[in-house]
Amino acid sequence: MTAIQPEYDCLVMGGGPAGSTTAALVAEAGYRTLLVERTAMPRASVGESLMPETYWIFKRLGVLNKMQASRFPHKVGVQFVGSSGKESAPFFFRSHDPRACSQTWHVDRAEFDWMLLQNAIAKGAECRDRTRALNVVMEDDRAVGVKLQGKSPGDPSRLIKARMVVDATGQKTLLGNQLGLRRMNPDLRKVAIWGHFRGAARDETGGGVKTVILHSGSKKSWFWYIPLAGDLVSVGLVGDRDTLLSNQLDDDRLDSEIVFQRELQQCQVLRDWLENAKAAKPLQVVKEFSYSHDRAAGDGWVLVGDAWGFIDPVYSSGVLFALKSAELAADAILEGFRQNDLSAAMVGRWLPEFAERTNLIRKLVAAFYSGNFRVGKFIQQHPEHRTELVDLLIGRIFDTPSGQGLPGKIFDDLDPWLQRMGNS
Ligand SMILES: Cc1cc2nc3c(=O)[nH]c(=O)nc-3n(C[C@H](O)[C@H](O)[C@H](O)COP(=O)(O)OP(=O)(O)OC[C@H]3O[C@@H](n4cnc5c(N)ncnc54)[C@H](O)[C@@H]3O)c2cc1C
Repeated sequence: MTAIQPEYDCLVMGGGPAGSTTAALVAEAGYRTLLVERTAMPRASVGESLMPETYWIFKRLGVLNKMQASRFPHKVGVQFVGSSGKESAPFFFRSHDPRACSQTWHVDRAEFDWMLLQNAIAKGAECRDRTRALNVVMEDDRAVGVKLQGKSPGDPSRLIKARMVVDATGQKTLLGNQLGLRRMNPDLRKVAIWGHFRGAARDETGGGVKTVILHSGSKKSWFWYIPLAGDLVSVGLVGDRDTLLSNQLDDDRLDSEIVFQRELQQCQVLRDWLENAKAAKPLQVVKEFSYSHDRAAGDGWVLVGDAWGFIDPVYSSGVLFALKSAELAADAILEGFRQNDLSAAMVGRWLPEFAERTNLIRKLVAAFYSGNFRVGKFIQQHPEHRTELVDLLIGRIFDTPSGQGLPGKIFDDLDPWLQRMGNS
């Protein structure tokens, strides 16, 4: 492996899906690209259910065949279970659109992220794990390089210059925090407690597995149920941080097991599914994960993936947004290199439309947390919105057919419907 050079065209901080995608696309075009990741790869991560629209980015990255040949189970749909235990009819993607792109996967994130990182290396990016970005060096408001801390504890920090710096550090949002741009969403102060189980129920009707979203009877929380390869299932509890942890003395003393079991008692369907299951590893906790940034690009820098922002895990949109933002940012950076213009306007030119499109999922998240969104009932009363709802669940919000305009008509009826449900 060659030593890190003093200067690159593009320096990407973070080796998750967003960082590896940006690095692969920029390096593939022939620009000297360095990606640094602070952990030892491969590393585990939450976020295992993909949205089908990731298909097109896998295709462009050249990893679609690897996904198709992988051991990851096919995700064929989404299902909701209400707080009373009533199960909605599953939303099967292929009955909506029979093409291969309507199906996706439930992935092991250590394997998946590793595969994307290897792909970046194959495209020509230099990738260094166990290498931390300490801070971005700015000159006259322009990013000019990154201070890196090497693999060994005693290693001195070192400035590596770059014409373009990409922040793909996920929820750490290194540059967003450094510049004081991060805004937490006070309405979505959530906590998630999650783990893997063996021997839980598995339903493969429809030719694959489904992501199931189950409301607990307490109406204070919901669970995800994501069957993985083999007989593993990922189960996560998500709730309002203050409500869910109200009996805890302080966060550090949070007993995740007690809270998880307490809410599980309120979710009969999930209790049945987990009846014969054994925990495969200790539960993990993730806190406060919804935020955005006042600005996501500047001269010589841009934020992608979770470093750009994060809405909520309920519709499994995070990895799609990470891949898509990375693709759009990479295209803007490449155009910037060609035109010798790495201004905020150039490298962030994709941001307004990206925000507008992802806002559709944000609205669907708000509907979910209104407490009144009974998906099956809404679709029964408004069958004309079924197509658009499934499009949203597939993540088909970026590349809508020409002439069709921005999706979102569903909200013309959904918003007043939620209000009526709330008043009834
Ligand atoms: C509770 C929960 C459940 C979720 N469930 C889903 C789901 O089912 N489906 C889905 O699509 N999404 C889900 N997500 C979201 C998904 O996990 C993220 O959107 C996705 O991982 C974002 O990818 P990324 O590359 O932007 O960031 P990450 O995957 O977080 O990668 C960022 C990388 O940057 C590295 N890094 C951080 N700081 C530094 C530094 N200073 N120097 C170098 N490297 C650094 C980190 O170690 C990390 O490897 C969930 C999120 C949460 C919180």
